Amino acid sequence: MKFDYHVIVIGAGGAGISTASGCAMFGAKTAMIEKGAIGGECLKSGCVPSKALINGAHIIKAIHSAGAYGISAELHGVDFLKLLDHGKSAIDAIAARESKEKFTGMGIDVIDGEGVFTDRHTVRIGSRSITGKYIVIAAGSRPMVPPIPGLQNTPYLTNETIFDLKRLPAHLVILGGGPVGLEFGQTFRYLGADVTIIDLLPRLFPKDDPEVAAVLEKKFRSEGVRLLLSSRILEVAKAGEEISVAIENMGSRQEIKGDALLVALGRAPGLEGLGIENAQVTLDTHGYVRTGEDMRTNIRHIFACGDVTGQFQFSHMAGYQAGIVVRNIISPIGAKADYSFVPWVTFTKPEVAHVGYTEQIARSMGIFRESVVVDMELSDRAVLEFQKEGFIKFVLGKRNRLLGVTIVGDRASEMIGLASLALIRKMSGTAFYPMIMPYPTDAELYRSASKVLLKNALKPWIKKLVRRFLVG
Ligand SMILES: Cc1cc2nc3c(=O)[nH]c(=O)nc-3n(C[C@H](O)[C@H](O)[C@H](O)COP(=O)(O)OP(=O)(O)OC[C@H]3O[C@@H](n4cnc5c(N)ncnc54)[C@H](O)[C@@H]3O)c2cc1C
Repeated sequence: MKFDYHVIVIGAGGAGISTASGCAMFGAKTAMIEKGAIGGECLKSGCVPSKALINGAHIIKAIHSAGAYGISAELHGVDFLKLLDHGKSAIDAIAARESKEKFTGMGIDVIDGEGVFTDRHTVRIGSRSITGKYIVIAAGSRPMVPPIPGLQNTPYLTNETIFDLKRLPAHLVILGGGPVGLEFGQTFRYLGADVTIIDLLPRLFPKDDPEVAAVLEKKFRSEGVRLLLSSRILEVAKAGEEISVAIENMGSRQEIKGDALLVALGRAPGLEGLGIENAQVTLDTHGYVRTGEDMRTNIRHIFACGDVTGQFQFSHMAGYQAGIVVRNIISPIGAKADYSFVPWVTFTKPEVAHVGYTEQIARSMGIFRESVVVDMELSDRAVLEFQKEGFIKFVLGKRNRLLGVTIVGDRASEMIGLASLALIRKMSGTAFYPMIMPYPTDAELYRSASKVLLKNALKPWIKKLVRRFLVG
């Protein structure tokens, strides 16, 4: 059978761009279909604008903290719209690097419009139909908006609309204490809003080691963020300018009133309108596209990657999975995704970064031997910067093999890469000790944790032997 394209990619977010570029680079005739703007969620309403806003909020925080250094600085006001504009400029600058012309120049046919499967090899875009030998679903995800009573009649924000706010809310009520809710919550608090975060779970960071929640919950509360955990959302209503959220907490009903509501209750697959049923692709119980380790769906020539697979919804994972797809399309040597060493970061202050297994998971797998925690306070850099909260934690298996690392600290996102490398290389927790770390840096904590392990391993007979050697 003859096809119009070797590869058709549906969606031009991080996953789609990486897949199309990779396939085209290896000479495959490739089409990339996008119904919105190239760049997807990360660029428009995810990573880029959120981190731009967070960065601005941290400057405010620094101004408030300047007194500790003997610097009398005063905040004369925040031009909220200008701050949002900074995010928009960052989007424009990055979008210019990811332009349609760039991909066309790489030999990719970039097709504007919504792609709809009409059968297993054919995608329709408006009145045009194209066929592909391989088809890659990279359709991403969207904010999940559950059917909470009253929500449909109440104005609410999601990450897709929050950057269009015209003024800073006086009191932002956030439904959901996951990474998105926490990052926005702390940011809006630093900008000057009152913030309440409501979550059903009894603690924040449920997927991380419990030490993380202990630090971050204390930090959020000390900064004036109201955290309502173990709280079930009952209903939402609007009365005049006020929005009220009724919750059940410890068996009693409470009403929280604010002037803006952010729904940050997770993600849903971006499959509406794709005609996925025409391709007979199987979905999982949450409606995401089910893939194997090779990123193939149940239909051998149809792949999926990125958020639409529901696994580790991060930009770096979209790129990683796209790499697996490309390798499996262009080469007969099968590539498989390995999720043992996925790093993730929540960009709060302090940041929370993790890679590998948590202690709980390592225990459940029966491979946990011990853990080492070194407090951030032991870093000289942290002392001179008044960085009081945070730690590094090693989770270790047999013979001190590093199984996972968690870092809580102001630069945790920059530090975690080293742990990723150590895990991929199957290194021991003591591997950092011989390294020369520049002074003063937070990364010295890696050496400190290695040192603790070496110290623990120092048996009395070794000391005896050394003493004898020194005498002799
Ligand atoms: C507030 C927020 C902050 C985030 N911050 C970070 C962060 O700091 N770091 C990080 O790693 N991740 C972050 N993420 C997650 C990150 O944005 C996603 O993991 C990433 O965008 C997934 O890329 P993707 O290509 O799979 O999907 P998307 O980026 O959603 O791209 C999918 C694309 O497909 C298009 N599409 C869908 N259906 C069709 C169709 N039928 N036809 C044509 N086009 C279609 C869509 O228009 C979209 O452009 C954040 C997410 C949010 C919400």
